[in-house]
Amino acid sequence: MAFLEISHLKKVFGNQTAVHDFTMDIERGEFITFLGPSGCGKTTILRMLAGFEGPSGGVIKFDGKDVTHTPTSQRNIGMVFQSYALFPNMTVAENIGFGLKVAKMPQEQIHVRVTEMLKLIGLAALGARYPWQLSGGQQQRVALARALAGKPQVLLLDEPLSALDAKIRVSLREEIRAVQRELGITSVFVTHDQEEALSISDRIVVLSEGRVEQIGTPSEVYNFPRTRFVASFVGTLNLLSGVVVDAAAGQISVNGQPLVTSNSIQGAVTGQTRALAIRPEAIALEAPTPGRNSLAATVEEVNFLGAVVRIRVRMGAVAISLDVFNNPHRTLPQRGENITLGFSFDNLLVLEEVA
Ligand code: ATP
Repeated sequence: MAFLEISHLKKVFGNQTAVHDFTMDIERGEFITFLGPSGCGKTTILRMLAGFEGPSGGVIKFDGKDVTHTPTSQRNIGMVFQSYALFPNMTVAENIGFGLKVAKMPQEQIHVRVTEMLKLIGLAALGARYPWQLSGGQQQRVALARALAGKPQVLLLDEPLSALDAKIRVSLREEIRAVQRELGITSVFVTHDQEEALSISDRIVVLSEGRVEQIGTPSEVYNFPRTRFVASFVGTLNLLSGVVVDAAAGQISVNGQPLVTSNSIQGAVTGQTRALAIRPEAIALEAPTPGRNSLAATVEEVNFLGAVVRIRVRMGAVAISLDVFNNPHRTLPQRGENITLGFSFDNLLVLEEVA
């Protein structure tokens, strides 16, 4: 039995359905991320898990127990928000111990637990400071410690890193993950940042307009997107359309050039136009090679990005990008040059939608 069971969850605001029929099982200790653009419903699902929002339909179970209509205070959850929401008139230690005090834990035990928490988040020396004496990253670590102090069964994190600058965001996400692993706490994290989702999660739920587009591990979602939405939202990607030449043999034609996919073209018929995807890093500059796809193209733009160089090429009406590793000893093609691109049959993904 899964630790968190979410069945047919639905939320309607007025005449708008924010969440349509969301069903998912989450295992004990898993780190799950809801990923999607603004308005896709990720916060609404999290708020229903927290009990801040009542569902319009569906059931939520924590450890086998139906909590769909249980008040937040009785769900045993810890929550971290984008705005750290610390009490400004309390010290760091008082903030962390606040929930324990409300729960009437004896003062001595609170002290032990707060000390443990301060150590866990690497702020052992800062217990007596006030929130305004801390950096944004430190304040968010205090908020995390406060959420974990009561040993919740589920940790819910709503865009906790969005207000921080890029460097702190990366280091703090690693810390959150390390703490989560150490405690083995089942966690649900909300973000609109695909890189953050890929780096931190056991599994990602990609959402669009209140519906699940795909649920999978970071590598499944990145390497094998099922829909155009997932393909374009997760990672940089070339979206093309191709005409099916022979579905059984995986042959498809793009701009009159024949390509082969080793992935099945499900439900396709000859002559049908399908959406195709290929990652820029899967394409190489190379002469036509047997057993690999080849495309003739003209260089439109060459952008030096540091570790990689992104080359934009055109084939008639279609433009795509490829990334090559930066190598100071290699001559790169110039704008206007005619070149040949190559990529493996495996790397041409045929998506579910008809283009
Ligand atoms: P963001 O990243 O901007 O917070 P989100 O993916 O978390 O977006 P939600 O906040 O879950 O999206 O909102 C989903 C949809 O439900 C949106 O269209 C939003 O306008 C609507 N919505 C959310 N809360 C309410 C509310 N209390 N009343 C009416 N509509 C709401």
